[in-house]
Amino acid sequence: MEFDTELLHGGISEDEATGAMSIPIYMASTFHQKKLGQNKYEYSRSGNPTREALESLMATIEHGQAGFAFASGLAAISTVFNMFEQGDHFVVGDDVYGGTFRMIDAVFKNMGMTFTTVDTRDLAAVKAAIQPDTKAVYLESPSNPLLKVTDIQAVAAIAKGQHLLTIVDNTFASPYVQHPLDLGADIVLHSASKYLGGHSDLIGGIVVTKDPELGAKVGYLQNALGAILAPQESWLLQRGIKTLALRMRAHLANAESVFKYLKARPEVAKIYFPGDTDNPDYAVAKKQMHGFGAMISFELQPGLDPVKFVENLQVITLAESLGALESLIEIPALMTHGAIPREVRLASGIQDELIRLSVGIEDVSDLLADLDRGFAAIQ
Ligand SMILES: *Cc1c(COP(=O)(O)O)cnc(C)c1O
Repeated sequence: MEFDTELLHGGISEDEATGAMSIPIYMASTFHQKKLGQNKYEYSRSGNPTREALESLMATIEHGQAGFAFASGLAAISTVFNMFEQGDHFVVGDDVYGGTFRMIDAVFKNMGMTFTTVDTRDLAAVKAAIQPDTKAVYLESPSNPLLKVTDIQAVAAIAKGQHLLTIVDNTFASPYVQHPLDLGADIVLHSASKYLGGHSDLIGGIVVTKDPELGAKVGYLQNALGAILAPQESWLLQRGIKTLALRMRAHLANAESVFKYLKARPEVAKIYFPGDTDNPDYAVAKKQMHGFGAMISFELQPGLDPVKFVENLQVITLAESLGALESLIEIPALMTHGAIPREVRLASGIQDELIRLSVGIEDVSDLLADLDRGFAAIQ
């Protein structure tokens, strides 16, 4: 099946008991065991039909073997890190989601895990960071907020050679744009609160694995740690995913137009977009992505006020998050990446003036007129 078809017919797409084409929201904590121990479902933390339908769909569209749904993206990520032990070391991308950095830095370090952050685009740096206790390479591509594109296939090959797992946060691309498991990654994960959900109405997380043994480990921890996605959200997320391809095509087309507009603005000092042919990551992006995503970051010329710019927009909404139908804009240093110490943030290239834009599916003329309004306000 092609991707667009899989979104509708992949995984468990209709209710076995009734034929309902929308999997019902099974609001049940427990299930009657008519014969002891022979039930498919026992208790909704360990298995729920609504969540299972979503999980099977995610496994299909991420080209994996098993999918797991969690209460948030961070719940998915923390469950994956719980596969490891005290003393284990990780090579982590230097431009990961602020909350992921905080989890590593403030929680897992205290539990005796160690981390080396590197620009994972630099393959020599990835190799050099590997230690005898290294267990995995963890990266985002495109990364947040600088949209660095890592050659996933090359990093996964290095990791495999050293018997390490490759874990890719695919939130910024979505499975419409990129399939990390096809590129050699072992685990792909998502904040489903972004493109997968798409409608600014839920928080959720997804993990998909390719190897059955690895899947069994994640499944065990999903139940053992308990950070599952509830039936209501599982249903809502599956509903959102049905239109992922339609939404992504609109996102990508608008992002291309907004990029061209911003690139030509004299007030913009620097622009970060994987589809920019001047971007050193362009060739890798072209090779491994289907389209370039719909996230654009940019810096204004020195002296121009980014806060004034974002506060004067009327259509593009000043808000954290991304991947929504609505265009969202934010200042990473003051918002999403505020938890990262300033010197660490500057060292990884996230300037105070950086603006991150998640291009939505509004009529693009309204987006460009709105950006005009922002630029007029900072003259
Ligand atoms: C938002 C986000 C997360 C965290 O997900 P939540 O659903 O907010 O817990 C992780 N990674 C990336 C890239 C994100 O954008």
